[in-house]
Amino acid sequence: MDSVTASKLLNLQELDNQIESINSELEKIPAEIEKLRKEIESLKIKHDQLIHRKKELDFQKKEKELDIQTFQDRIAKLEIALNKVKSNEEYKALLREKAQAEENIIHLEDEIIQLMEEIENLAKEIKEFDKIREEKIKELENEIKALNSKKTQLEEELNKLITQRQELVNTIKPQALSQYESIKKRVKNKVIAIVEDQVCTGCYMVIPPKIFTELLKSEKLFTCPNCGRYLFYESK
Ligand SMILES: [Zn+2]
Repeated sequence: MDSVTASKLLNLQELDNQIESINSELEKIPAEIEKLRKEIESLKIKHDQLIHRKKELDFQKKEKELDIQTFQDRIAKLEIALNKVKSNEEYKALLREKAQAEENIIHLEDEIIQLMEEIENLAKEIKEFDKIREEKIKELENEIKALNSKKTQLEEELNKLITQRQELVNTIKPQALSQYESIKKRVKNKVIAIVEDQVCTGCYMVIPPKIFTELLKSEKLFTCPNCGRYLFYESK
């Protein structure tokens, strides 16, 4: 191929490689941000779960305290009734009920002590978790910020490269350009293969001597007969 077109196509290839690598970096960013957001979300959920659990325990404690009050009221009424009772049978029955109520109160008090311990431990856990949580969330939010500014920076670079590419494309012969595009579609990478020691560095096949000789002296655009890539020979 003629050396001017060849070097332009090499530049084009270099730009396309840069554009592609920026695009693939940009494609990864939304998933990375999403992952960090989910981490933040799960920290908030864990916090809510701990608070919810503590409310539940507080509620259970309150209910048991109310139950104790109910039994104490009942005991007070039973004591009045015991003073007025006539029959022995009735007296025994009231005493039994009073003893049962007292037993219930002792049982409830034990349960309340257990609940208070649980509540205290949970409050400590919440305090410690919240401290870590706030720091962790700040850290994650900073990572998100960094990713967003990286995204902006990459987009700016990409726009510059696209402009450069357009400017370059405008100066390349349409036939060479369309061939470049069609080879690119097929081989994905390395549209132009450097020829080294008579070997195409795109597919690593030896170039037939006849084509190689032509390549050395001709101004024509040559493609590798094996892989179809443009061949570029730089005379040393
Ligand atoms: Zn080849």
